[in-house]
Amino acid sequence: MDRGDTAFSAGDALFGAERTPLGILNRVYGYPAFRGKQQQVVEHVVAGGDALVLFPTGAGKSVCFQIPALCRDGLGIVVSPLIALMRDQVEAMKQLGIRAAALNSSLTREEYVEVRRAISSGNLDLLYVTPERILMEGFRDIIGNSKIALFAIDEAHCVSQWGHDFRPEYRELGKLAEHYPGVPRIALTATADPHTRDDIAARLGLNNAEIFTTSFDRPNISYEIVERDQPRQQLLRFLSGHKGNSGIVYCLSRAKVEDTAEWLNTQGIRALAYHAGMERAVRDANQDAFLKEEDLCLVATVAFGMGIDKPNVRYVAHLDLPGSVEAYYQETGRAGRDGLPSEVWMAYGMADVIQRGRMIDEGSAGDDIKRVERSKLNALLAICETASCRRQAILAHFGESHGGNCGGCDTCLKPVETWEGTDAAIKALAAIYRTGERFGTGHLIDVLLGNVNEKTERFGHAEMPVFGAGKDIASRTWQSVYRQLLAMGLVRVDHAAFGALKLDEGARAVFKREREVFFRKDRPASERRTKKAAQGERRSALAGGDGVLFDALRAERTSIAKSLGVPPYVVFPDTTLIAFATERPRTSKELLGISGVGQSKLERYGGAFLDVILSHDD
Ligand code: ADP
Ligand code: ZN
Repeated sequence: MDRGDTAFSAGDALFGAERTPLGILNRVYGYPAFRGKQQQVVEHVVAGGDALVLFPTGAGKSVCFQIPALCRDGLGIVVSPLIALMRDQVEAMKQLGIRAAALNSSLTREEYVEVRRAISSGNLDLLYVTPERILMEGFRDIIGNSKIALFAIDEAHCVSQWGHDFRPEYRELGKLAEHYPGVPRIALTATADPHTRDDIAARLGLNNAEIFTTSFDRPNISYEIVERDQPRQQLLRFLSGHKGNSGIVYCLSRAKVEDTAEWLNTQGIRALAYHAGMERAVRDANQDAFLKEEDLCLVATVAFGMGIDKPNVRYVAHLDLPGSVEAYYQETGRAGRDGLPSEVWMAYGMADVIQRGRMIDEGSAGDDIKRVERSKLNALLAICETASCRRQAILAHFGESHGGNCGGCDTCLKPVETWEGTDAAIKALAAIYRTGERFGTGHLIDVLLGNVNEKTERFGHAEMPVFGAGKDIASRTWQSVYRQLLAMGLVRVDHAAFGALKLDEGARAVFKREREVFFRKDRPASERRTKKAAQGERRSALAGGDGVLFDALRAERTSIAKSLGVPPYVVFPDTTLIAFATERPRTSKELLGISGVGQSKLERYGGAFLDVILSHDD
């Protein structure tokens, strides 16, 4: 297929004589209606206002700047941090018949000349650029006399050091207002952290912008957090519910990424690795495969993920604890951008808490930042150890209230039992205190259980009254008790003393029995997962004939995408294919009635998909 002729050739016919926001949404995107606050944002920016858009992933931020760029006179300029992803976004625009291009260092000479020609002749709707380029001397020459419709700053949290993807070049974007007065600016991010949000507005000079925000709940994502005992088997059980799906498995270290990917392949799960230490070409190829293929597991460090637009990431697994609730929310948020049911899962243990704490202490940040990081880590720990709704706890962290009982997290689906543990807490705290606040959980548990070994002998701990005082409770339960004491802020880890536990302020009240302590009961390993795994499998497949048709439609999409060299979702998202399979449109007109089918895609692919649908008629 020749793609050259479609590059800059869309005309006013596509948009209709009048470029109204709703008209464009219907005809170009094929969506029947705006969602949430999209319409308000679009109207505000069309009228020339600045905007700060804080919507969660999947809410539909792209439309918020793309449609105003199409409605307003001139070229819309989109600042985006990653060249690799610009390419797919530009391709997705072109599929809709929008005249889009990217200007970056990956262009060939001919492509560069073509883009410049399109700009100077006014034949371009949207131009994607990197932040470093937009403030270069030459950029103004490139724009020349062209009118600028707006600036959109995507992934705007990159401007903030408080965020997780800090990009120093973003700082310079604060100058856009000076350099291009009167051009509306719209910054967009899925960051839920209020601290980062304030920083974005300040750094980008958007203090007078209207702020648009919605709930940060991701109702289609279900949350599960388990205590780690046999991480690989636990991961396999989780993945068994996701055959044929794409997902991400996050690990903390590069070595673990590689080992895990290799091991998954031996278990019949197609997995590729991604981390910043890999050879660039291999890393890019693995990212590309993940975007383009349907059933790949990408095992990655957090180096992977920013701006990943793949809408059908069906699961995200964490084999290690992230550093904060913000990071956890962001990483799990990469699941389910298309709004279809998705599952996120994490296995964690005390070792993570020690390791994360050490990373903070050994980091180069100043004391103030370290303090913030420690409290962010503790906030995540509290979510891991909560006996109530996880969604409620996550949203509460971002200042949003939720009634709980979400029905989509492990603690709601299977309520956690609690036990009155004041006596146990006192014993656990006493073990710390009596041994001089110098030991980690391994030794403390030996003391509680009365295990005689070289260490208990050497320090004379076997003679203490607390020695063996916790024999009636299993070692695993003591592990859980210490994690929860940590989450409750009754003890803390001293990383300077190699992970020794120390008493924290609240401990005194427990000793004096002024404070009762309840612990969550950990589930026996065998009880976990199985039921939900089965659910996952059922969920991902459509029933009977619809399922057969869906698979055939998916195969058609793959072959079209391959011939174009684009990810399948650029052709149609899963939601549109599901509607094809269940509603079975038979004419072009009926196809247009399906959400996600606009004029341009109807012309390009309508025939091919109708053929598949009609050939499955019975
Ligand atoms: P975000 O950037 O906020 O994560 P996207 O802009 O990628 O979200 O949109 C998420 C998905 O929702 C995309 O598949 C997009 O095409 C779809 N979408 C956006 N707006 C609408 C709408 N008004 N109606 C139907 N689908 C929409
Ligand atoms: Zn819940």
